[in-house]
Amino acid sequence: LQLNYFQILREIHDELQNQFGHGKVADYIPALRRVDPRKFGIALCTLDGEVIHIGDALEPFSIQSISKVFTLSMAFAKHGDSIWRRVGKEPSGNAFNSLVQLEHERGIPRNPFINAGALAITDILVSDQENPKQFFLDFMRKVSLNPSIQYDAEVAASEQEHGYRNAALVNFMKSHGNIQNAVDLVLDNYFHHCALSMSCVDLARAMLYFANHGILPVNGERLLTVSRAKRLNSIMMTCGFYDQAGEFAFRVGLPGKSGVGGGIVAIIPGKLGICVWSPELNPKGNSVLGMKTLELFTTRTGISIF
Ligand code: GLU
Repeated sequence: LQLNYFQILREIHDELQNQFGHGKVADYIPALRRVDPRKFGIALCTLDGEVIHIGDALEPFSIQSISKVFTLSMAFAKHGDSIWRRVGKEPSGNAFNSLVQLEHERGIPRNPFINAGALAITDILVSDQENPKQFFLDFMRKVSLNPSIQYDAEVAASEQEHGYRNAALVNFMKSHGNIQNAVDLVLDNYFHHCALSMSCVDLARAMLYFANHGILPVNGERLLTVSRAKRLNSIMMTCGFYDQAGEFAFRVGLPGKSGVGGGIVAIIPGKLGICVWSPELNPKGNSVLGMKTLELFTTRTGISIF
């Protein structure tokens, strides 16, 4: 039976689109405050090449922590298991920017999706490349099939200006020998990763190689081994939603990742990538309508990884 994804997504979009006002747009990065809280887009890309999008799904937004999935994938592809000496792989149960946990764990972040972990991964990418910002941008253009995606310089500058806590995390890790490059260089790259602007369609497409055992569907290029793609999806499942990963797994049942720009990406292995964008966040930092959309999607289609 061929599921009619468009019809299911349209129903969900129609049903939810008046349910704004139950969350708050992220404001600790001032440039993110400007976004219209009523933006709401959904995009779904299948491995067969089907692309479905509804609402504001073509409008670029700040991907924020969704970037952490791709930076981890790049570092894991190049360095394999040696990255686990620098960062753990357990859910954190703490806020994404927690300092206290890092101190207990002597500068080894709990997982690659909390800020400290992504900063350590960024340090690895910075050591690898002469022009790491361009390298990340080129990679994201390749996986999204969109050569025109760009960093939002204003968001990057705003993060830089207010990035005291991230600076504290890098400095603390550096004091434990877990950062090799200059603190400012690592932060600059990390802020740019977060400040990349992409649409739901770009992101749903970019996620497809995680749904395809590590192979980019458009040209068959292998970006991750089968085993590493599995491991990356597992980390999304256990760590992808701040300290609400359990709730997301319970309600939705898919590996995914959210960002404070209001985006959520998820995949169904062997089938599809999906992205929802709605900037109002719950107190844990996850998009309210994004979570609701994906919950309804797996419930109504009857497909999840379980
Ligand atoms: N750039 C944000 C920060 O470092 C990312 C937060 C997020 O999306 O989780 O605070």
